[in-house]
This record gives sequence, structure tokens and C-alpha cells, in this order.
Amino acid sequence: MKQLRDTPPNVEVNSEDSSKQPDLITHISELRRLLPALPPERTRTMEVVSERYQFRLPRFYVEHILENDPNDPLWDLVLPGEQELVATDDERWDAFQLQTKAVDHPRWIQKYRYEALIRTTDYCSGLCRYCYLKHREVTAGSISHRDIDAMFDQLTQSPHSAMLRELILSGGDPLAISASLLEHFADRLTHLNQSRTHAITVSIHTREPVWYPQRLLSSNSLQAAVAKLSPSSHILHVVHPREVTRELLSCIELLHELGSSRKPIIMTQHPLFRGINDDPAVITEMYSRLDSGRIPVKPYYLIHPFPDGTLARHRLKLPESQMILRALASAPGTRVPLLTVPTPMGKCVIGPYEILQDRGGYYLLHTKDGIPVHYSTGDHYNPSEARANIPVVQLPIYN
Ligand code: SF4
Repeated sequence: MKQLRDTPPNVEVNSEDSSKQPDLITHISELRRLLPALPPERTRTMEVVSERYQFRLPRFYVEHILENDPNDPLWDLVLPGEQELVATDDERWDAFQLQTKAVDHPRWIQKYRYEALIRTTDYCSGLCRYCYLKHREVTAGSISHRDIDAMFDQLTQSPHSAMLRELILSGGDPLAISASLLEHFADRLTHLNQSRTHAITVSIHTREPVWYPQRLLSSNSLQAAVAKLSPSSHILHVVHPREVTRELLSCIELLHELGSSRKPIIMTQHPLFRGINDDPAVITEMYSRLDSGRIPVKPYYLIHPFPDGTLARHRLKLPESQMILRALASAPGTRVPLLTVPTPMGKCVIGPYEILQDRGGYYLLHTKDGIPVHYSTGDHYNPSEARANIPVVQLPIYN
């Protein structure tokens, strides 16, 4: 079984500010000193769970976001819990990909002709207990210069790269990899785009400004690399209003300013969890706090929980997620997210008033490309069960 790795990446930090190296809590005993309200029985369970699934939290997150209160809903999201022990461990979410993907590389995930996702690392400064990577065969460690060259060499030659419009840098967390790797990626992409009719843009998906904002705020080399990469968008993974710290708002301003000739869009997306952020008022408060700084932040995807990984106690049924969207939909369009249902075949977006009909244990959904998906009406859904039945649809090619 793979786990997200425990070795912090080599990230350059200002020499005058070397005190801002990640300060990570990796032992339950250490956490107990910071959260003395942790009950002894819960602490014992956490010790057991953390032997199977790593535990890691930045001190910043513990001191600035968590409350020393067993009723803090965020505890379940970041502290090891016994529900993790009953989760299935055979999910391989990345297994379904286009047969005509532009690049064949373990870090390259392509479900759409126009978009590919690159798993730059398996590292994040903190570990979400619901992490959808936890049970998967993720490629270990960080992407290398050689990996980047291999991908771009193939892209240059591939007959399937013409349709590609966007590369998503994901992880783990792309803002936790070495700045020199982001710079190299930027160099190769700039070179490639010079020979293309339609440029390929980059989108960064990150939770690092929530976990450990100092990494970005204090690293000149990381800032220079992001500026060189010039992403068209940054998608921030934020799940609760309390995660919107002053430091996160500073990161948002910085990410915006780093786009020198072309400013990026800043958006936010998040999974839904029962008892944590399944209240439209909580989500609205989070959006308002994110949008309270100098830079507008647009809600992007409201993510129906991944069927695996998400702790059973916090899993919602699809109609419940839809009711949350319905409550959020009566707002200016710029403040309304899209409700997306992740499936191995691709994302299915559903509307606030779309009729969800039980067709005998499943709803019939469609991916963005129109591929039909049987989505379980139950709590549990193991994508591997249906993978053999995934239809391969020949889609028209548009230029
Ligand atoms: S930020 Fe994403 S990749 Fe990192 S631990 Fe959380 S869910 Fe997993």
C-alpha cells in the first residue's frame, strides 16, 4: 500500500528567513502538547491509525486554524481517526484514461482530449485524512527534470497533442516541489507553445497556502518560478471558513501579483463533508472570507465527495450535495460553484434542479464529454467494479 511520502521536498527559502522552514508536527505526542483537550482514548486511536497511515500537520495549521476543542469539526479532517481503518484500499482513480492520451508517463493523467493532469509529487505539507490519493498507486517522490523532459519530448511528437489546451499541475502539491523544477517546466512549455497555433495554459491546484503559507510568502525562488510559469489560474483547495487566514489572503495577493504580463484567475474548490461544510451558510461564509481581500476569488467546483477516501461518517449522498448547490445557486453567477461528481471516467457536472432518478441502484450521469456513467445511489461505490463496463466513446474531433 502506498502512502504519501514523509520527506519534505527540497524547497529553497530566503537565506535571511531560514526560520521559515516547514515546522511539521509528525508525532501524536507533540500534537497532544498543542491540543491538550485531546481525550486520551482518541489519542490512543490516533497512534494506532498513524502507524498505518502517516500523520503530518504544519504547526501553522494547528496553531492558527484548529481549535483546542474536541467538537472542532476540522479535527476529523486532519487528525487520524478510526474510520480510516475500514476504508477500502483498492482504488486506482487514475486507471481510466484516454487511449489516445498525448503522453505516456506515470505522472501524466489524461481523461480528456483538451486537458491533462500532472502529478508533480506525492507530498503535501499536511495530510488530509480524506485524501483520495491515500489508497492509490501514486508515483512516489517528486517529479524530476528527466520526467519533465520525457513528457515534453513526447508532447512535441504526439499526434494527439493538438487538442490539448490546459495542463493541471497537481500532486500532492505543486507548490511544494523545488522551484528549479517549476522553472524547467516553464522553459519547456514556453518553447513548446512557440510552435503551436493554440497555446497550452497551466493551472495550479494547491492547498499549500492553507497548510503552510510561509513556503510561498518567504521563498524568492518559488515566487520567481511561479512568475515564470505564469499560470492562467490558481485553484485553491479550502474546505472551511476558518482555513481562510490572513496569510492565505496574502498568498492570494502574491499569486495574483506574480502574473506580471497576464494576471491569473484565482478560484477555490472543495469537497463537501457531512457535519463540516455541508451547511450552505458555512460555505457562503468561506466564499465571503476568501473574497474579502484585494483580489476576487471565484468559487469553482463544489465536489461531491470522492466515493472512497472520504470518511464514511462525513460522506453525503448525491441528492444531499445537490440540495447544497440549490441553496447556493440563488446568488450572483460569479459566486455560484459548479457541482461536480468525480468518477473514474471523468467529471460529471449536475445542475441544481436536474432530476436525479434512481434507475435501480444507480443514477445515470454524464461526463463533460457525454460519456454515460452509472453512479451508485448508495453510500459506497467502488469504481473498480464498474471499470470493465466503461464505454469507450468515439468523440468528434473539433479544431
Ligand atoms: S491537499 Fe490534496 S493531495 Fe494533499 S493530502 Fe490533502 S487531499 Fe491529499
